[in-house]
Amino acid sequence: MTALTLLIPGGTGQLGRELNRQAQQAGADVRAPGRAELDVTSAGQVVSAVRELAEHARRRGGRPVVINAAAYTAVDAAESAERKAFAVNADGPRLLAAACASAQVPLIHVSTDYVFSGESDRPYEPDDPLGPRSAYGRTKAAGEVAVLASGADAWVVRTAWVYGVGGSNFVHTIARLEREKETLRVVDDQHGSPTSAEALAGGLLQLAERIADGQGPEQRTLHCACQGSTTWFGFARAIFEELDADPERVQPCSTQDFPRPAPRPARAVLSPRSWLAAELDPMPAWREALAAYVRKHRDELRAAE
Ligand code: NDP
Repeated sequence: MTALTLLIPGGTGQLGRELNRQAQQAGADVRAPGRAELDVTSAGQVVSAVRELAEHARRRGGRPVVINAAAYTAVDAAESAERKAFAVNADGPRLLAAACASAQVPLIHVSTDYVFSGESDRPYEPDDPLGPRSAYGRTKAAGEVAVLASGADAWVVRTAWVYGVGGSNFVHTIARLEREKETLRVVDDQHGSPTSAEALAGGLLQLAERIADGQGPEQRTLHCACQGSTTWFGFARAIFEELDADPERVQPCSTQDFPRPAPRPARAVLSPRSWLAAELDPMPAWREALAAYVRKHRDELRAAE
């Protein structure tokens, strides 16, 4: 079988790096440009990058797919910069999807659990109504709608609480606080599924393979997060345990104790049903994925700024 030929906008982010690493390892032909090389808000850059991908794949007999890992992910900052976030999270995917439709290249677009209100007491299915509570969530929801309405051969994959190398993420923050503070308080009333960029990238690449073979799932919106759920407090305690630190040093508090600019969904757990129904490999349990991440990156976590 010929190799995948991938374009991964946002290639320098947590997910983009991991997609790039795993895809190269699997023998794919990958271009994973960062924002400086491919700004998804620039129609001209987007059209020529997708066109080049299609031509390159045709010359090499490869199977082209775009996986969009570019996003404005600063959830609190987005509250006062919604237009900027909209440009990256909604206009960017719209441009990418239009370019993919015209070049007949399939697109996987990554989205978030924050498109939901978090008021449901059961895990969210892909077709549940959207109800974003934050500017970030609104812009990501608009991006999903634009991609699915574009006429492109496109899939939206929602994920949650991502951590990976090169990001300012919760695991790295807690590892730093473990060194700096005797005790810390972490919110215990927001529930979600911590997801390693490594596990997510593996899932997305499996999906890309299927799509490139013309076997893409019928369902156009899928949920892909590590299995099980916890709170930020539970997640922080687990990180302490993995670092061989005393988890009792982490104490629970409520969202009200730490007001932030952006409201978060209280319970935005993503159901794995759509992923499994598409016969994609089950994602690992969040606790196992965390243990694997800390084992692999222990030295970096010890030095985390
Ligand atoms: P990161 O913030 O680590 O990476 C996003 C990347 O997008 C960065 O490299 C950023 O570059 C780039 N980017 C920003 N603006 C543009 C632009 N105009 N053109 C091209 N690239 C741009 O995020 P993640 O890897 O964690 O997120 C990947 C996806 O997963 C996103 O769609 C996100 O919404 C989604 N997601 C993430 C979650 C999380 O907890 N992180 C949770 C749920 C979903 P630069 O650094 O130069 O700005």
